[in-house]
Amino acid sequence: MTDQTRSAAAALSITSVFDSGNIVVEGIDGTTATLSIRKDNESDFFQWFHFRAAAPAGTALTLRITGLAASAYPDGWADYGACVSEDRETWRRATSSYDVNEAGGTLTVRYTLESDAAWFAYFAPYSLERHHDLVAQAGACDGVTLRQLGFSLDGRPIDCLELGTGAKPIWFIARQHPGESMAEWWMEGALDMLTDPGNVHARKLLAACRIYIVPNMNPDGSTRGHLRTNAAGVNLNREWHAPSAERSPEVLCVRDRMDETGVAFAMDVHGDEAIPAVFLAGFEGIPSIKDAQLASFRKYRDTLAVRTPDFQTRLGYPEARPGKANLSMATAQLAERYGAVAMTLEMPFKDNVDMPDPAQGWSPERSMQLARDCLATLAEMVEEI
Ligand SMILES: [Zn+2]
Repeated sequence: MTDQTRSAAAALSITSVFDSGNIVVEGIDGTTATLSIRKDNESDFFQWFHFRAAAPAGTALTLRITGLAASAYPDGWADYGACVSEDRETWRRATSSYDVNEAGGTLTVRYTLESDAAWFAYFAPYSLERHHDLVAQAGACDGVTLRQLGFSLDGRPIDCLELGTGAKPIWFIARQHPGESMAEWWMEGALDMLTDPGNVHARKLLAACRIYIVPNMNPDGSTRGHLRTNAAGVNLNREWHAPSAERSPEVLCVRDRMDETGVAFAMDVHGDEAIPAVFLAGFEGIPSIKDAQLASFRKYRDTLAVRTPDFQTRLGYPEARPGKANLSMATAQLAERYGAVAMTLEMPFKDNVDMPDPAQGWSPERSMQLARDCLATLAEMVEEI
């Protein structure tokens, strides 16, 4: 090794050239890196980051992610800790602070390496390889069909797992917004429970329902390291009133399958950047709203709140006024089009402020457990849906 390569090896280096990677290196000075986040392709949205920092074990890193006042959700950075992992299995929170007045809004992350590299991300990533593992493993279970409903703009399959022998059509979809990786961790928890023959809640659901699960609505955005859009910069959760092969084939193929199956109950799984809580949003403003439909949604929500301290009803989005629902969004469109009990589940990027975990914040493990609680709650009241 020459002196030159030795000094190069000792320096801090940063890369994001991998699945769901996103970072721009503005400059590196010693152990301090100045960074920014790349916008979604053909879009102004940005918030998701995922990169690898390499330096000798013991190095105290200072990572400055700048320009965040212009990000999609600037309120997402206060009281937020960046996710970090050295083994890419356990994700913890690094000490982080946000200064709105520094370099257009800067999140400063401080972390001392225990080994020679660490991975940092907005939330614990869920890779496309893991997605393939998930659908392969679930699809191999008895009674489960893996159906490709169509293809994304970049040509990736839109996977749907179908299971259950009952008549009631139940849909779960996730990751319309690809940076909300907790939504696919939730799906892993859901599929793990539903394919466990020893789980009585699952058995009850599978006897009463035909369940359709789309673990990743937006594989192109996921692998491109997008926050909110597909390969063409389209926000899929604003396409449900008129999906098209040109802009949003991901939504079109799912909605076409829903037209074939009908929808009695639907949950669209997301993450929220700013609100430190888990909550549900409903369909209050749809034109055809029915009392029984709304009562079932509220009963589901309130029952879930009793079941798990990780869910609450105090924090959330304001309800749409009568007739003012946005029918381009999945929840409102599914409630209107099929009369479904439809809902949007939001999990935090930060933490559950009522039950904080300083080490991990909101995590893959809690996302998976929440899925089990959501399914068990549905099993409790499935006769009423
Ligand atoms: Zn979302």
